[in-house]
Amino acid sequence: MTTQANTLLLETRDTLHKWLSLATGVIMLFFCFLNISVLNQITVGAVDGILGMLNIYFFASAHRGKAEKWHSYVLIISLTATAFYAFYHADLRAGSVYWLLLLPPVYCLLAGPKLGLFYTIALSFPVLAVLFIKSDTANFIQYRSALNFVLAYFFSYITCYLYETQYAKSSLLLHKMAFQDPLTGAQNRHALKLFFDDFNNKPEDPFQTEQEETRLLIVDIDHFKSVNDEFGHDVGDSVLIEIAELLQYCTGSNYVYRIGGEEFLIILKNHSSSQAFDFAESIRKSVESTIFRTHEHNIKITVSIGIAQLNQGQTFREFLRVADKNLYSAKNKGRNLVHYGSISVTEAV
Ligand code: GH3
Ligand code: MG
Ligand code: MG
Repeated sequence: MTTQANTLLLETRDTLHKWLSLATGVIMLFFCFLNISVLNQITVGAVDGILGMLNIYFFASAHRGKAEKWHSYVLIISLTATAFYAFYHADLRAGSVYWLLLLPPVYCLLAGPKLGLFYTIALSFPVLAVLFIKSDTANFIQYRSALNFVLAYFFSYITCYLYETQYAKSSLLLHKMAFQDPLTGAQNRHALKLFFDDFNNKPEDPFQTEQEETRLLIVDIDHFKSVNDEFGHDVGDSVLIEIAELLQYCTGSNYVYRIGGEEFLIILKNHSSSQAFDFAESIRKSVESTIFRTHEHNIKITVSIGIAQLNQGQTFREFLRVADKNLYSAKNKGRNLVHYGSISVTEAV
């Protein structure tokens, strides 16, 4: 769950990286032209040119969805080097120090709050030293400009830090609302659909062994309606919460989904058919031997489980049809048992 929420944050970071790369690339190529053809500063112009081209390349890679981590570091280095160089060489009165105030937010957004703070602090030392040396000495201008710089510089970091942490919290919350079942805390159908899309988009491995295949279990509580009828809906809800906890405990992973009222789905990665069958049996037995104590009632329930193999190219609907068929075979055979069907998708459709 958290990993998927982080994905949202990373996507935002990638977008920032992409457009900043383009802006930096264009600006640096402009300076390259200026330095070489007007100011006759060949070395500086060449460095600008190389960094400018690199940033345009990062933009193109990000545009094709192929951004890499090191691109961000080079982007950070080129932005820092350009801003510091301009600040160091230009007359202080020209105001080139203002560009440095943009760097803390860029560090925080591109590298994350912790590393961003480290870069912010690290850059502040040489900047303060240069500022102190270059400032006018009259009327304590050195100290006043150093103080103003420190306040504005760190304030821009803090503003961005607060925004970034708040944004992380909201995306986690939004993610929970979108992908988590509010009653049981298991994942919901939207999350399962995402899993299917990811699974289908992965390149097929022709050397995959049976042990490396993915299988799914559909777990349906037997005669759950009678629990509601006998003890009330609240008790039924508590049993659903407890069974979701039990399934999550048994799988030891995040791959438990509530796909219907009293139906859960478990994804088993790297399980052969016999391993999946043994695992389903162990779940069935755990449920059978558990006493669900809730609202001063001791309730015993059983589950029926259908197993299906997940093949690439299968649509979400097709898969559910196969798994449901296996589940209902288990129900028809008397409930409280596991059914493994070898129905292939094409036969089922
Ligand atoms: P079977 O063994 O054939 O699966 O019988 P069943 O009673 O479990 O299945 P059926 O589909 O007839 O009924 C499902 C019941 O699950 C009916 C509904 O009241 C109950 N249910 C579905 N969602 C919830 C829920 O969120 N809370 C509670 N308490 N009950 C629910
Ligand atoms: Mg049921
Ligand atoms: Mg059902």
